[in-house]
Amino acid sequence: MLPYGRQSVDGSDVAAVVEALRSDWLTTGPRVTRFERDLQAVAGAPCVTVSNGTAALHTAYAAAGIGPGDEVVTTPMTFVTTAATAAMLGATVVFADVEDDTANLDPAAAEAAVTSRTRAVTAVDYAGHPAEYDQLRKVADSAGAVLIADAAHAVGSAYRGRPVGALADLTTFSFFPTKNLTTGEGGAVASTDPALLERARTFRTVGLVRDPARLRHPDEGGWHQEVHEFGLNYRLPDVLCALGSAQLRRLADFKASRARLAARYDELLADVPGLRLPARRAWADPMRHLYPVRVLGGRRREVYERMRAAGIGVQVNYLPAYRHPVFEDLGYRRGLCPVAEAFYAEQLSLPLFADLTDTDQDRVVDTLRTVLGS
Ligand SMILES: *Cc1c(COP(=O)(O)O)cnc(C)c1O
Repeated sequence: MLPYGRQSVDGSDVAAVVEALRSDWLTTGPRVTRFERDLQAVAGAPCVTVSNGTAALHTAYAAAGIGPGDEVVTTPMTFVTTAATAAMLGATVVFADVEDDTANLDPAAAEAAVTSRTRAVTAVDYAGHPAEYDQLRKVADSAGAVLIADAAHAVGSAYRGRPVGALADLTTFSFFPTKNLTTGEGGAVASTDPALLERARTFRTVGLVRDPARLRHPDEGGWHQEVHEFGLNYRLPDVLCALGSAQLRRLADFKASRARLAARYDELLADVPGLRLPARRAWADPMRHLYPVRVLGGRRREVYERMRAAGIGVQVNYLPAYRHPVFEDLGYRRGLCPVAEAFYAEQLSLPLFADLTDTDQDRVVDTLRTVLGS
């Protein structure tokens, strides 16, 4: 089965991991610091690595102090953990609808959803296309909320010339194998606010405080460290950070390859009736994570099944988050966000990854044409 997304691992990646395995460090060592620094160069803000993108979201919400009684406004057109991690901290998730073209959080809908209890507004850069950060910034600031970016799709993307990572108060990344770069499992939190980043770092390291200036009982002894707020062990090991730094050196090539393949889909599919191709705003410089088409005429399920039967691993991204039973059981109902529902009903992700060959891409296009009968 041709997958919808997959990693690209070459000799330089393998060599970096082997070198790390032969070193003195398996977990927190020099490669963690190096990967965080390398990531900062791409994200435009200092970064803390964590064990995956879900952990990054949990860490970002914890750093922002999200808890019971707080509301978090976010998009339903995302992987469930964007919302689930806020709910797990006791917050109430308020889903606001998306823009029809980009499927990103609609600033007008977000503005209508904020209340005096809103503590965070979380955008998602769907398919790698940045959300409308200038407008979302106004919404968050006027509500006195932090702006969070779930940029699991968008490491390497830019919004009006500014890198994703430097736009929100806290930005989260995922390095799962289908994402723009991989560490196997992995993730990061970026922030230009040193206090938020420090809180994120402490949370990901069990909540342990070692800085003598911050200890409540500094005379305990040289071994002493303290937990002031509960945290988790969300560390990303040295071995995986070695892979991350090696992958970052290839990021520009990944971006160029994804851009070329997306442009090729745009061209090859332009005249296929019954399809709507992904939009791109003039100010966006996206790292094309997904190639999401819309299958019109109620045929999405049929197209999904026939493509799969032909060995083409198309995917649907995403079931609106509130339609997961865990949210249904909390009282969220179908139809809550009609634009997101309409998008979901037609959405299909075609295979897109850095090493996709033109031959395989041609097969995807030909199969899709045959299925749609054009
Ligand atoms: C992949 C993804 C996540 C979760 O990342 P993991 O590394 O798989 O935990 C969160 N949000 C979005 C939008 C994602 O695509």
